[in-house]
Amino acid sequence: MASNFQQHSYDAIVVGSGPNGFGAAIRLQQAGLSTLLVEAKPTIGGGMRTEELTLPGYRHDRCSAIHPMGMGSPFFQSLPLDEYGLEWIQPDLPLAHPVDGGTAARLEQSLEATVAAFGKDGSMYRKLIGPIVDRWEDLVPNILAPPLGIPKNPIAFSLFGLKGLVPARELAHWAFSDKANRALFAGLAAHSMLRLTQPLSSAIGLVLGSIAHRFGWPLPKGGSQSIADALAGYYQAIGGEIVTDFMVTDVRDLPASRAVIFDLNPKQLLHMGGLAFPQRYQKQVERYRMGMGVFKVDYALDGPVPFEAEACRRAGTVHLGGSLNEIARSEEEIWQGRHPERPYVLMAQQSLFDTTRAPEGKHTLWAYCHVPNGSQEDMTDRIERQIERFAPGFRDRVLARHTMFTADMEAYNPNYLGGDINGGVQDMLQTFARPTLSLSPYKTPLKGVYVCSSSTPPGGGVHGMCGYHAAAQVLKDWNKAGWSFA
Ligand SMILES: Cc1cc2nc3c(=O)[nH]c(=O)nc-3n(C[C@H](O)[C@H](O)[C@H](O)COP(=O)(O)OP(=O)(O)OC[C@H]3O[C@@H](n4cnc5c(N)ncnc54)[C@H](O)[C@@H]3O)c2cc1C
Repeated sequence: MASNFQQHSYDAIVVGSGPNGFGAAIRLQQAGLSTLLVEAKPTIGGGMRTEELTLPGYRHDRCSAIHPMGMGSPFFQSLPLDEYGLEWIQPDLPLAHPVDGGTAARLEQSLEATVAAFGKDGSMYRKLIGPIVDRWEDLVPNILAPPLGIPKNPIAFSLFGLKGLVPARELAHWAFSDKANRALFAGLAAHSMLRLTQPLSSAIGLVLGSIAHRFGWPLPKGGSQSIADALAGYYQAIGGEIVTDFMVTDVRDLPASRAVIFDLNPKQLLHMGGLAFPQRYQKQVERYRMGMGVFKVDYALDGPVPFEAEACRRAGTVHLGGSLNEIARSEEEIWQGRHPERPYVLMAQQSLFDTTRAPEGKHTLWAYCHVPNGSQEDMTDRIERQIERFAPGFRDRVLARHTMFTADMEAYNPNYLGGDINGGVQDMLQTFARPTLSLSPYKTPLKGVYVCSSSTPPGGGVHGMCGYHAAAQVLKDWNKAGWSFA
């Protein structure tokens, strides 16, 4: 046994310190188990890390940046994370989506303000999103839960489900007549990393739109690392133990425990020493499909991005990609293994609202676009052309860049296989079979071995709910076995 561990045995060990690793570890520790959290990297955080990637004094979110799911997560809400330094900042405007001609569609934090911003499409926006916002508390247990469970509020859930099933392109065409409003919905839906002609591609657009009106699209002061640090602070305060700089390649290197919960891509588990899965499970996991990858650029800037549209200059997040049809086409191209000339680009402008991110008067910019899984293409020029299209003169403000290809993503975190940041495609099939078709997707066929990463329901994003539900399964099995706590 490695000497880094304080004890020879624990009730449960969690491998990986992403939001879901913390979700599992905290819930188990709260329940009275003795737990250990093991992380491969020298620092904790998974997709919640902030580093000086470009120049000294410029602090960039390496992965996640904007946290509607984090602020709206029932699990995070149950924790006193503010006491451990987490401070949410709400940008003036959650999201702007520019179109050619110098204007932009806006998603405001207030539903009524968004209805007004949508102009003649406002009443349709209210009809589409309003009922989800009103019944958010009823819907959340279903949206952020294993999909094969019995819906807690079947009527509310069915109404949401029917809208969410319609492909985003069709829904946007049907609901809105203004090209900028349609484009804004396309940008929201494209977070799904699905074709916008696919069923279910609307669901994430509807969730992200609604959650903006419930919780905003906040960013954590100091960067996403602050979420990780707050989770770690609370976890340690309730007795949890963390060991970093320990890449687990063989479970026999870990101290003894009744349960090991992996915040890992299940494909990684197939190569984990000491775990011999039955062939059927191995085949299912091998068949589990990874989705498109991402190419990311972080910028140090001499000033803010000089957007033509005023709304973009005060938005935390800006989606670039032009019209609904352009975004639908570029996402389709990626599914066909090609690199679009005009990609859909997701941008966050944290330093406009958080002065800790850059020296005075200077700025950071976080941007990425989708690419085919495993892509080796440098998309920097195409991303910058998209920015210049809506913010002429942008390139003159660039002081430094840091790029990440799909291989860099995977090298940085083996969960991001081929650059997929979502833990696997989340289409209709893999919403249910995540990572395998099972009433309890967190369990593996091996006793005491569980998965809790974003490759389990409810999927990608910083919310910790996969870990929270995985821990519930561990506790259920624990009670069934009649084990006592160490
Ligand atoms: C570029 C990018 C942008 C994103 N933007 C957003 C955003 O704005 N908002 C949002 O909500 N989400 C965003 N996400 C997604 C979000 O970061 C992930 O969905 C989330 O972090 C997944 O959490 P997880 O706990 O499942 O795993 P991860 O966060 O991936 O954590 C897994 C951890 O396990 C560790 N690990 C891996 N293998 C081993 C091993 N063998 N032994 C020990 N430790 C190991 C890794 O080092 C890592 O720390 C983004 C992701 C990326 C990459």
